[in-house]
Amino acid sequence: MKKTGLVVVVILLVLGGAMSIRAMQHTPDASARVERVNVAVDADIAARHLGEAIRFRTVSYQNEADMAVDQFEGFIAWVKRTYPEVQAAMTLTMAGQYTLLYRWEGSDPTLAPILVTGHYDVVPVIPGTEARWSQPPFAGNVSNGMIYGRGALDDKSAVVAQLEAATVLLRDGYRPARTVYFSFGHDEEVSGTRGAAAVVDILRGQGVQLAWTLDEGSFLFDGMFPGVTTLLAPINVAEKGYLTLDIVASSEGGHSSMPPVHTAAGHLAQAISALEDNPVPGGLDGLSGAMFDTASRYMDFGYRLAFANRWAFGSVLENQLSRVPFGNAMLRTTTATTMLSGSVKENVLPIEAVATVNFRLHPRDSVEDIVSYVKGLVENEHVKVRPKEGGNAASPVSDWQGPGYASIGQAVREVYGDVGVMPGIMVAASDSRHYGQIADDAYRFNPMVVTQEDMTGFHGTDEKLAVDTLAQGVRTYVRILRHGGGNGVGQE
Ligand SMILES: [Zn+2]
Repeated sequence: MKKTGLVVVVILLVLGGAMSIRAMQHTPDASARVERVNVAVDADIAARHLGEAIRFRTVSYQNEADMAVDQFEGFIAWVKRTYPEVQAAMTLTMAGQYTLLYRWEGSDPTLAPILVTGHYDVVPVIPGTEARWSQPPFAGNVSNGMIYGRGALDDKSAVVAQLEAATVLLRDGYRPARTVYFSFGHDEEVSGTRGAAAVVDILRGQGVQLAWTLDEGSFLFDGMFPGVTTLLAPINVAEKGYLTLDIVASSEGGHSSMPPVHTAAGHLAQAISALEDNPVPGGLDGLSGAMFDTASRYMDFGYRLAFANRWAFGSVLENQLSRVPFGNAMLRTTTATTMLSGSVKENVLPIEAVATVNFRLHPRDSVEDIVSYVKGLVENEHVKVRPKEGGNAASPVSDWQGPGYASIGQAVREVYGDVGVMPGIMVAASDSRHYGQIADDAYRFNPMVVTQEDMTGFHGTDEKLAVDTLAQGVRTYVRILRHGGGNGVGQE
């Protein structure tokens, strides 16, 4: 007995020691460290330009007829006038009438081109909320080191930063080896079916296959991952899919004074419970695993211990992450019951009760996978699943070991220092689902820092961006274009 106890203690000590060693080695990749690079950028001019861009009310409405055409035309004229070097060095084609497509010809036609893009349309400000803004939403005011207004984050800052970066490079006499396209979309907020889709048609018609694209996506995060004090830069390599299902429960109608054991509403409630109690299987494999593997290297010892020893703690970690909405969204296809309907009157039994459930598909799941999973979970003689129109699978997953990813990651580290660069998954839709059709890889990333507090500005109130943040964005685009426009990282 005694001997067995001793053996167990020794095994535990050895195991604990091995786990701790792994945790201590689970640190940022030292070989990824790069020299900081200084890029001279006039932050005040960039800020003034973003303020000017915000003044055009380039609002996308669900109803196309509401579009203020003069504002879009005004913006296009403003780009031409404000960035004369770009206008002179590149060829401009209008796509879908209001989307700008610039072509900057490279010196080496054998290299596949790249495309860097953003959108200049914005979502409306909810009428009646203007007074909640600390600056008027379309004044483009710059005050206390901040640029205020609709589009300051999403996504006029990216458009302006790209144009500023191209101008910096042109003034330096830089010419890319690879042809570089810039596109500035006018209808991303209403799905890009006229702008980005037209760009794709034009390029496809010319036989262009892009090496990679860079569109809006994740920002650099400050303090948004638990236990992480450094900046993290998730470069989104995929975009989740979208599916809505109606769960329909039926029963005999009639008077509510003599109800059956379960009404249609009761059957529906059981189905909703089953969905919430049985989330779509997911986990720390593939892309989700790679993302958290990098992030955890910047976390405190407890997290590192767990992530470095996933064979032992994997399921504990997955459970923990699944409890947090962000973590859950990264690990699996999410399930959200959003709309309910039943009887039309309080004393009438429902013949049909319907729950509308919205799913955001992880790249590992197809639309068919989710439909059959949900059917298996909830369908019975009373409950049926009815798919709604318009579902789509997640995008393909782009290479996070390829040259485009490396160019972006290198640029981020040159400007921001040793930050955690990792592949991420985009939960919202972007124009990349169009551009990805003609590109080997599509990346989604805005090289600017946001905090949790800034997040409410996206499509919300008091959207704003720090002048310094914009300038860092310009610097990073300069470096991205240097690496991407060359032959790859280090080949400027
Ligand atoms: Zn956007």
